[in-house]
Amino acid sequence: MMEYVSTRGNAPQMCFSQAVTCGLARDGGLLVPDHIPDLSDQLAALRKLPFLDLAYAIMRPYVDLPDRELTRLLRLSYGTFRDPHITPLVPVGDVHVLELFHGPTLAFKDVALQFLGNLFSSLLASSGDVLNIVAATSGDTGSAAIYGVRGKPGMQIFVMHPKGRTSRVQKLQMTTVLDDNVHNIAVDGTFDDCQHLVKSLFQDLAFRDQFHLGSVNSINWARVLAQITYFAYASLRLTDSERAARVRFSVPTGNFGDVFAGYVAARMGFPIAKLIVATNENDILTRFFQTGTYAATEVVSTMSPSMDIQVASNFERYLYYCLDCDGGQVMQSMQTFAKQRSITLPHCFPAGEEPLLDAGAADREATLATIRDTYQSTGYLLDPHTAVGYHVAQSWLHPDEPMVCLATAHPAKFPEAIREALGQDLAHHPVLDDLRDQPERCMDLAVDVDALKKLVARESARFFA
Ligand SMILES: *Cc1c(COP(=O)(O)O)cnc(C)c1O
Repeated sequence: MMEYVSTRGNAPQMCFSQAVTCGLARDGGLLVPDHIPDLSDQLAALRKLPFLDLAYAIMRPYVDLPDRELTRLLRLSYGTFRDPHITPLVPVGDVHVLELFHGPTLAFKDVALQFLGNLFSSLLASSGDVLNIVAATSGDTGSAAIYGVRGKPGMQIFVMHPKGRTSRVQKLQMTTVLDDNVHNIAVDGTFDDCQHLVKSLFQDLAFRDQFHLGSVNSINWARVLAQITYFAYASLRLTDSERAARVRFSVPTGNFGDVFAGYVAARMGFPIAKLIVATNENDILTRFFQTGTYAATEVVSTMSPSMDIQVASNFERYLYYCLDCDGGQVMQSMQTFAKQRSITLPHCFPAGEEPLLDAGAADREATLATIRDTYQSTGYLLDPHTAVGYHVAQSWLHPDEPMVCLATAHPAKFPEAIREALGQDLAHHPVLDDLRDQPERCMDLAVDVDALKKLVARESARFFA
């Protein structure tokens, strides 16, 4: 049976169900499985499987649910997707675009959060517990989490977004959900402030226990787990159809959750030659993979707001594996970083050999030019996040290794960027058009942990009365 341990090595180990409901480890670290299963001798059989069966094979060793319950959750979660292949691959120019936006909110986060919502339901139904989910969002996590848990019994969700820093559509996708168990909160600060508020709540262990806090941010292991599926799916499909030994991925990156799932997929033995971390002007990760120094600067607002993140929470999981699973060293590194806002990590930066991870950035000009050029030469419309990945991918093309660019959002979620790139309103989706003129509900909050605690306490007393 798989056990889960803290990246900081100073918390009791726990089973999958506990790891999913508690989110963050009690020593402030992130939960990781105690080993990564190797499926490399099963690739021929796995290659033949449709998405759901492949997802089952990947998740089975990590999850402590009965076989039939896992199957049921996967069917339920991916039954809401609008494409029969769930995450289809579409050739666009030299690159294979992996469309991850066919879920209810049109962003890749649905792949993980549809599953996580159903997983919470299943776990709460058998334990009889309740859950107050607290989440920070830079735009897309919020709506995907809300659609994952809306109307489900035994849980309510508090979603904080940085006021005025998400796109108009992103905000509407959250605030038009009026279910009783959904609370939208506009925080007067940046996404990092929102994320910090969530962390502070979790660090107050007494509060965390009293109010049964749960997390849907990408610190939750179940999200990483659900995202391993499409790295595996695309790498198996393309090594087959393109007769290649391995494939490359360009991954539009913010919190490092998605690319970390790719890292685990590679460690599980899926045919992945390279994972390219693609960032916008918030390029702490690109600078890290180029220099070995992880140094935070101020967050700037860009046209790909879901990647406007400096301190990438999932980076700690990668650090843990680079430091040979030595929790004490991870703890020390994270403490040094917290004090100095900068740290040099030679272990994570293998010189000489061809590294699995690499990185590149695209600024505003490059993003706009990529949307424009790609549309003009292929007729395919990239959203600004995918455009960052698509731009960076061009520097890493390899004749023997097909390149996959993850398409993390449908372009209609970012109509302002499309209009700016092309001078026309080309990006539409009926789901989003329907949001206009619907009633909204949202409250304001300062960057104030105590105010947030009061709010959670009040609503919890009311909701679970
Ligand atoms: C969340 C998000 C990202 C970044 O994903 P991480 O897992 O945070 O690295 C990229 N693009 C879009 C559209 C997103 O919603």
